[in-house]
Amino acid sequence: MVEDRAPDPHKFVIAGHEIGHIHYGTLDVHYPSGPPAGTWPEGFAVLGDAVAGYNPVYGHGLSVAAQSALALGRTLDRYGPTAPGTARRIQRAVARPVGNAWNLAVGQDAYYPGAAPQPPATVERLLTAYVDRAVAAGSENPRALRGLLDVMSLRTPAARLFAPDMLWTLSFGSRKGPLPGPPLTRTEREAAGLD
Ligand SMILES: Cc1cc2nc3c(=O)[nH]c(=O)nc-3n(C[C@H](O)[C@H](O)[C@H](O)COP(=O)(O)OP(=O)(O)OC[C@H]3O[C@@H](n4cnc5c(N)ncnc54)[C@H](O)[C@@H]3O)c2cc1C
Repeated sequence: MVEDRAPDPHKFVIAGHEIGHIHYGTLDVHYPSGPPAGTWPEGFAVLGDAVAGYNPVYGHGLSVAAQSALALGRTLDRYGPTAPGTARRIQRAVARPVGNAWNLAVGQDAYYPGAAPQPPATVERLLTAYVDRAVAAGSENPRALRGLLDVMSLRTPAARLFAPDMLWTLSFGSRKGPLPGPPLTRTEREAAGLD
């Protein structure tokens, strides 16, 4: 239960613990990988958009909320609702799907002018170039596409892109080559006024 707000209107304090800041109505919790011991009030869990809001273009919010609900259920099943530390464990479990979506989004959004105080570092640019390569391969190789979609839909963490079979497929996998034109039937072409 929310008990208090600190004098700073952007600080969010629960049971005497400052746990985050409010941005545009969203609670931005301090701990990207889950709260450390002793810093999280018992009996309190934050899920869904209340933990982090994402750029809607990626379509990740519902998946993160659903995966967080599963993490909540698993943690409650394992430890029970009243065991000391259960709330903190829930938050740590929830941090995993949140982190997966967050890292994918910021990796792309960092390229918007002014999105970050510093331009992307060399490692981030190399990662982006690798993801671009995966996208290009995915348009011409079904195995690459499957791996890419698993990551983009949050079915698997982004580390999947660096699994040996993906590295091999992106480096040496067969390519169908670009389509000669839009894959439309005659009826569709006529409806679109292309014939
Ligand atoms: C324009 C837009 C497009 C989006 N497109 C996608 C998409 O394509 N794919 C995708 O995965 N995600 C998308 N999202 C994100 C997705 O909708 C959210 O991530 C998801 O709904 C979060 O679920 P939630 O349960 O955390 O919050 P919500 O779905 O917002 O649920 C919170 C609920 O709490 C209720 N509530 C608020 N205050 C109180 C109160 N004081 N007392 C009682 N009830 C209260 C609200 O009425 C609401 O029903 C989109 C979001 C937006 C805004």
